[in-house]
Amino acid sequence: MSSILTSWLTIDQTSDFSISNIPFGVITYNGATKVSSRVGEFAIDLTVLFEANLLDNCGFSASDFQSNRLNEMMKKGKKGTRKLRNRIQEIYTNEVFKAEGEKALISIETVTMEMPITIGDYTDFYSSIEHATNVGTMFRDPANALLPNWKYIPVGYHGRASSIILSGQEIHRPKGQQKPKDDEPPVFGPCKLLDFELEMGFITYEGKPLGDSISTTEADDYIFGMVLFNDWSARDIQKWEYVPLGPFLAKNFGSSMSAWIVTLDALEPFRVEGPKQEPAVFPYLEYKGDKNINIQLEVQIQPEGEEASTVCNSNYKHMYWNQNQQLAHHTINGCDIHAGDLYASGTISGPTKDSYGSMLELSWKGSQTVQLKNGVERKFIQDHDTVIMKGYCEKDGVRVGFGEVSTKVLPSK
Ligand code: MN
Repeated sequence: MSSILTSWLTIDQTSDFSISNIPFGVITYNGATKVSSRVGEFAIDLTVLFEANLLDNCGFSASDFQSNRLNEMMKKGKKGTRKLRNRIQEIYTNEVFKAEGEKALISIETVTMEMPITIGDYTDFYSSIEHATNVGTMFRDPANALLPNWKYIPVGYHGRASSIILSGQEIHRPKGQQKPKDDEPPVFGPCKLLDFELEMGFITYEGKPLGDSISTTEADDYIFGMVLFNDWSARDIQKWEYVPLGPFLAKNFGSSMSAWIVTLDALEPFRVEGPKQEPAVFPYLEYKGDKNINIQLEVQIQPEGEEASTVCNSNYKHMYWNQNQQLAHHTINGCDIHAGDLYASGTISGPTKDSYGSMLELSWKGSQTVQLKNGVERKFIQDHDTVIMKGYCEKDGVRVGFGEVSTKVLPSK
């Protein structure tokens, strides 16, 4: 058992960014954009540590830290970024480094967060059994809610990377075709059933050559870290367009991610057993050890001029398919992956009504209202609403969290 790390810095116990976290991100400060880490209420300027020779023997060069994206430093692979993170942790734990370490600290209030990675490819899975069951119950047949392939295949689709935005950036309500009445022709206009999807995303390192596969055992070595992810969805556009090729314009107008990438190393202590998978999965999807992660998740809606109201409390531990299985499945046909590719989990719904990860489920297809504070009600997301997702792990007094992903919805253009 590892003992609890303590920093020479004072870090609030409720901070997501304890000394056990040490995530990676990109900041702009004083006009310069660069690779950074974070501890408590401070960004850590890695260039300052590098120039003080505190990162010698970690295998990185100055240009890795002066970059406006993490992709280059991620090419050092798991061994490289692990060495770097361990060293940063040592600097902010050992008093010997206090004088130099303090020089690299920048108050988080004074930095602008940037998109941390150039996302090459983006895939979205559909791996929560509660979510898939809810959707199947609403739209098809409660007796056969899951499609026959669901317990055999970690179902997914290729999404669009260009419209993934950083927390804080606003989005416009999408326009598109909808077919509100079965016996009437389709209509065109602003989406009326705008929804969030509570998801987590994982980001990979450089993978293997085209034609090779990554096993469930190898998967951890190819995963850099995770972010909170809001996979915005236009339910009315989706319903009309998805047959027969699946999601398209209902999804690709925007998805939002949190700014700090929390490494898989930081999340290891929070591993938990996954659900029993029956029928038995194919051998290439079998895995050893605990591969789910206990990440407490929350969704809030904040209407303009109102307080934020919590509408969902869920947990990443509920996922039926874990990310090792998702990556093994993604590559079993020889599909290649690269540094900076993003894979989202699919909506993370829990077993109880207050743990459903979308308004589609919370309002049960718009048949029920969701109560917010001060008598405000919602069925779907309205213009000028801000949707905020938060997530953190906590065990034995150690907290490792993601901060938040927050996005305000503006009217259609
Ligand atoms: Mn999704």
